[in-house]
Amino acid sequence: MSWELIVKEKFSSAHFLENYKGKCEHMHGHTFRIEAYFRVEQLDESGIGIDFTELKAYLRSILPDHQVLNEVFDFSPSAENLSKYLYYKIKEKYNVTKVVIWESENAGAVYSQD
Ligand SMILES: [Zn+2]
Repeated sequence: MSWELIVKEKFSSAHFLENYKGKCEHMHGHTFRIEAYFRVEQLDESGIGIDFTELKAYLRSILPDHQVLNEVFDFSPSAENLSKYLYYKIKEKYNVTKVVIWESENAGAVYSQD
């Protein structure tokens, strides 16, 4: 028996794609949306796996809000690389199974270990 919990958050940041030719080689901003999925196999006596409030607070504490992502990270901050980085960052503390980074309404990347 298991559940998958989902928490969503947003962060607004600037980036450009390194080693890339096209309009995204220039600095621009996104309101990125993150969806993080957590597996739980037990509920506490109040019927919850992990407190959503705690998960949201944790996400807010690690998300690079109002940052220039190229200055924060030593990788090209594409949605693909951001989803991978945030997956392993969250994994340090929680049993995360999947991280989705949306950089626009219609384009995003999913990272999971499978
Ligand atoms: Zn972009």
